[in-house]
Amino acid sequence: MVLFKDNVMKILLGRKVNESYKIIFGDGLFPQIAADLKESPVGSKYAIITDSNVKPLYADSLEELLKNEGLEVATFSFEAGEPNKTIYSVAEILEQMGEAKYGRDSAILALGGGVVGDMAGFIGAILNRGIKTIQIPTTVLAQADSSVGGKTGVDLNCGKNLVGRIVQPEKVYIDVSTLKTLSKRNYIAGLAEAVKHGVIRDAEFFKYLQENVDSILERSSESSLYIAKKNCRIKGNVVEVDPNEKGLRRILNYGHTVGHAVEQISVSKFRENSSVEDYLSHGEAVSIGMVAAGEMSKLLGYFPQKDLDSQKDLLSKFGLSTAIPEWMSNDEIIDITSRDKKAKDGKARYTLPEYIGQMLEFDGNYATHVDNDIVMKALNQTR
Ligand code: NAD
Repeated sequence: MVLFKDNVMKILLGRKVNESYKIIFGDGLFPQIAADLKESPVGSKYAIITDSNVKPLYADSLEELLKNEGLEVATFSFEAGEPNKTIYSVAEILEQMGEAKYGRDSAILALGGGVVGDMAGFIGAILNRGIKTIQIPTTVLAQADSSVGGKTGVDLNCGKNLVGRIVQPEKVYIDVSTLKTLSKRNYIAGLAEAVKHGVIRDAEFFKYLQENVDSILERSSESSLYIAKKNCRIKGNVVEVDPNEKGLRRILNYGHTVGHAVEQISVSKFRENSSVEDYLSHGEAVSIGMVAAGEMSKLLGYFPQKDLDSQKDLLSKFGLSTAIPEWMSNDEIIDITSRDKKAKDGKARYTLPEYIGQMLEFDGNYATHVDNDIVMKALNQTR
């Protein structure tokens, strides 16, 4: 009902929406995805959005399985890598999908790592003012984190993930068999988000990670499924409480303030000189960021030294970086953190652990400003 009084009209839109969705876990799920889409169509035609690495590995076979079910489908891919998570790559795919007449009743299958998931989810959020997206994550990081929660978007030159929308996926299929083809470096990088989930919310899960380092590094199907389910349960639980990041969801940003800064610095260097060896992926950067945030919390008198040591020890056992690359200066990092989209009045805000399994709450907020001298000390300790 539209309210109208004098010269003022109010459109009433306080409606409730149900954004619930299912996450399906398994080891070899592609035939099921095709069968499910045949039985319960999500769109009249499908766009598999993927990157140049995942296309030959998985997109071609998924496309064939869908075609075998009589479904209309085509694949759209972009050059792999974070430096391509841009509005320009999105624009290219939007043009191609527009040309191919993908209408409001079509749907996207986001097949790949977090870069694909973020970009394809964003395309789903804006094409024709929004079409449905199914996430099919193929990296540990994407299965642990980015495919759940609905955050989508792209980077700008001046910062990560600065353009985007929160739109929940229609469904998520987590097929751990895809992790077998990941490079060792990418596989390990994703484990940083698993360690993060243990530190922020679940000491038991942290202990499981500590006790199963070998089978996790061997990528056993059992440990991959256990980790994927635990990660999604922890993240899903936080997102249920706070879908739009007004409070509790901030804890998922643990390690991301310094993490995003070191990631952004390394991506910029990579853009300038693609042979730079210190290029850090998101997971590797988050690992460093957690060490720095843990140090800050310890310096402020919260995080116990033994928990700080356990965190660093587990990250190191997985083979993750725990030190800021020597060539990055503290000033450069602090400058970027102050421009982080979660900064307030130009001051970075940090999510800090109280102990393993519990994050600090500051008057209902799960992020706080930390004085520059503490940040500086913590960055020096992270070297
Ligand atoms: P990525 O998507 O770049 O994947 C890493 C590399 O692995 C790429 O080269 C990719 O082509 C390749 N690859 C993917 N799947 C493969 C497979 N099964 N076998 C072989 N190679 C494969 O990086 P990522 O670490 O998965 O994701 C990082 C991104 O996720 C960042 O952009 C980050 O901002 C984003 N992220 C988003 C959220 C969110 O909530 N939306 C959360 C965390 C991270």
